[in-house]
Amino acid sequence: MEKLNYLPVLMYHNIIDKTSVKVSNNYCIEPRQFERQMDYLVEKGYNCINCEDLENILQGRIEVPEKPIMITFDDAYSETLNNVVPLLAAKKIKSVFTVVTGYIGRESSWEKENSSYLTATEDQIKKLAGPLVTFESHTKKHLHLAGLSLSEAEKELVKSKEFLESITGRKVRAIFYPYGSYNENVKRLAAKAGYLFGFVIASSKKTVIQDLFEIRRVYMKPSDSLSDFKRKIAPWYIWYRGRREVFRAVGSR
Ligand SMILES: [Zn+2]
Repeated sequence: MEKLNYLPVLMYHNIIDKTSVKVSNNYCIEPRQFERQMDYLVEKGYNCINCEDLENILQGRIEVPEKPIMITFDDAYSETLNNVVPLLAAKKIKSVFTVVTGYIGRESSWEKENSSYLTATEDQIKKLAGPLVTFESHTKKHLHLAGLSLSEAEKELVKSKEFLESITGRKVRAIFYPYGSYNENVKRLAAKAGYLFGFVIASSKKTVIQDLFEIRRVYMKPSDSLSDFKRKIAPWYIWYRGRREVFRAVGSR
């Protein structure tokens, strides 16, 4: 179980060719660059897990595999799915896509610079959901949960889970807080809604899974060279980020 303390949970958004985007920003990574990163994981014997695996590990039903890692894609953009699913399937890599259920098959209003990005359609989600490709909740409307009233936040959490489960026919285990926005109330409501895990970006917890509703992720950027990638998945880096964020949380109090 110790190995999970430094589990790298990679956060990607768009894996898309530069020529297909209006503004090439920090959310867009070229498919070739992404493929090199995945090749590295395969070559070095990393094992990609999803939220079902994480549940099974924590329940003691399966062992933690060697070199566990989780690959997540926020917003489940249609073109990203088209670009990465065949590539991941060929390498038998498991992945997690997060869905904004109120915007299925629609333009992503929250992505200001590239608002014309379409998110995955219901058909696409239905067809792809399986052991390799899993879908988890990214709320209904992609709002800052910490800024909502309790009843609004609860609605975002409950409705998105129900709807996504009705499409995939599979249990939705995780909430990926939009903008990494959460607080203690949001975490409590997520647990009450039946989620098992909450994924953030920055967390004040020392280790990745110290708090299952505050699982830290690593932001993957287009400027990452392969050496940056290696650094970002290294246990020392995950450890260092934990210490840095605890320090920041204390400092900002
Ligand atoms: Zn998002």
